Amino acid sequence: MTNKLSPEVHLTWAKNKLKALILKLSPILSKISVSYKFNFWQVFVRPLLDPLAVFSSFENNKSVPMAIERFYRKSIKSFLGAGKTTPSSLLELMTGYNLENRGKNLIRDSLHRWNLRKKNKFPRGTGLDKITHSLKYAPHSLIKYSNLMNKICPLCPKVRCSAKHLSNFHNLKIPSVEELVESFHFLGPDLKSGADGVKRSRQWIINHFESKIKIPYDKLFCFINGNQLN
Ligand SMILES: [Zn+2]
Repeated sequence: MTNKLSPEVHLTWAKNKLKALILKLSPILSKISVSYKFNFWQVFVRPLLDPLAVFSSFENNKSVPMAIERFYRKSIKSFLGAGKTTPSSLLELMTGYNLENRGKNLIRDSLHRWNLRKKNKFPRGTGLDKITHSLKYAPHSLIKYSNLMNKICPLCPKVRCSAKHLSNFHNLKIPSVEELVESFHFLGPDLKSGADGVKRSRQWIINHFESKIKIPYDKLFCFINGNQLN
């Protein structure tokens, strides 16, 4: 937070900082895995956002928290390369970050520390909840798939290409982005080690998922682009 303790001033400062960060990091972000992209966000952007998350959970006037929420969504999409139309619920499923919960968690932790200090005790470690994301084994194509899936259906104006819509109206059976994220997050025992019992590397698992997503991605790509050309 700035020395004026004003969320508006801090938000403007954080927005400028985000622009500069994206400019500097974009050559690296284009090359690293989805999981590292989120780790970069956690290192560089989360500290800018934390004071605003605390403010959001206090503030009654909703216009500033809405601007904070927009800033949060924009920052995470810029780091992951996710399209503008990516739903907030999907971002939360992927990253495990919720602005309101984070704000409440920070307040609870600060109060706990303050109460200890009043008793001349020194808090050890952090009482903050760990942010558990679902992207450790996510392949690059996940974001590309998500961006296609959140486009407007080329055959039905104003309707998004959700897996349900494509299945019900166009007989295209492909998994939803949410299903894929969950399958990449909860690995079965066969993926952690092969038939030989040798532990699989993280890169092996990512490549495996990359090949799994290829067929539904190609089907979706052909459906969207094929119908746009007609
Ligand atoms: Zn349609």
